Amino acid sequence: MNLLFLVLAAFLLYTIYKIVLEVLAQREHLTDDTIRALMHGKLRKHEEPYRRALIHLGTCKKCQERLHAYNEDEEVKIQQKLIDDLRDQSED
Ligand SMILES: [Zn+2]
Repeated sequence: MNLLFLVLAAFLLYTIYKIVLEVLAQREHLTDDTIRALMHGKLRKHEEPYRRALIHLGTCKKCQERLHAYNEDEEVKIQQKLIDDLRDQSED
């Protein structure tokens, strides 16, 4: 009983620790390099930096605006792909 409790408590603490790290990482604004890499498809889908960038973009108007500003001279289809990915992401 005590052991079970300890294991559960340890697991819970570990989970909270992971969530806190994740939240802190997502609060950071995207760098210009990240935005450029995103727009040119250089970040791989399903990998951590891409996922994190998408989550951040989903909640940060400032970075969305930077993305749009960067994108003004780029092809529309690049942006469309990103919007599709953002939509997929929020449907998970
Ligand atoms: Zn941001």
